[in-house]
Amino acid sequence: MTDQYAVIGNPIGHTKSPLIHGLFAEATQQDMSYMAIEGPLEPQDAFAATVRAFIAAGGKGMNVTAPFKLKAFAMADERSERAELAGAANALSFRDGRIIAENFDGVGLLRDIEVNLNLPMAGKRVLVLGAGGAVRGALLPFIAAQPAELVIANRDVRKVKALVAEVAAQRPLIGCSYGDLDAMGSFDLVINATSASLTGELPPVPPSVFVPTGAAYELAYGKRLTPFLRLARNAGVQGIADGVGMLVEQAAEAFAWWRGVRPQTRAVIDRLTVPLD
Ligand code: NDP
Repeated sequence: MTDQYAVIGNPIGHTKSPLIHGLFAEATQQDMSYMAIEGPLEPQDAFAATVRAFIAAGGKGMNVTAPFKLKAFAMADERSERAELAGAANALSFRDGRIIAENFDGVGLLRDIEVNLNLPMAGKRVLVLGAGGAVRGALLPFIAAQPAELVIANRDVRKVKALVAEVAAQRPLIGCSYGDLDAMGSFDLVINATSASLTGELPPVPPSVFVPTGAAYELAYGKRLTPFLRLARNAGVQGIADGVGMLVEQAAEAFAWWRGVRPQTRAVIDRLTVPLD
């Protein structure tokens, strides 16, 4: 029987995952299907019931998107270290009656930055804006990439301090407010991992963090030149990118985890890329 996979979220109409996994399956000749499921928001236990119904119908794995990443994590029998730190799952695998949770957002982001954009983090000063789910998922992969300094700025300072405290043993990691950035100079790479761009807003980041020889990365995708990317460009930054590569790379990680074969990503990224201006 054809192995079945799905992405679950609400809303889900915008998802690119069936297209991405369909292209991966074709390129790697995997006998699988991949559908989008609009998960129920209520009652409380309806999400878990939908996942279990998918498993009962032969489902082998799922991608999980907003707002279900915490619920997917909570219902798992086993969780990877990355998923544990994120407190969230963006992929599930169903094996031998057990639900295994993973979080590939961080590794997908790192791979897009280091491999696709050719921006190795080792020895670099890296600034991350935001301290939400995406940042939690990225922390361990980023620390493993050995930047000279990793600074995380967030509006809610208590949230970022608590996050940094969870991985305090793993230096170098600094949590701070946006106001603190004025005195910190420029960074080789500035990553906007806030959700500000989804509403056309700009996080209160000072232009002094940018340097023309550096790079700016926006996690949101398909939104052309967001206020953050525009600020970076106005500061003279040449290397700017949005999160379409991250989207495809996290999908490739999940695909490799499920199927044991890693698909090529370049052509899929090119197909989904919306020009920035
Ligand atoms: P969360 O809701 O978990 O976190 C949101 C973060 O954004 C918080 O740190 C919040 O700060 C901050 N924030 C929101 N609005 C503003 C603002 N106006 N100014 C400054 N900070 C703000 O979101 P996620 O971490 O899940 O997602 C973050 C972004 O990453 C979204 O744009 C999402 O679309 C994108 N994403 C992209 C993926 C991809 O594959 N390319 C995958 C996953 C996410 P505070 O704590 O102070 O409220």
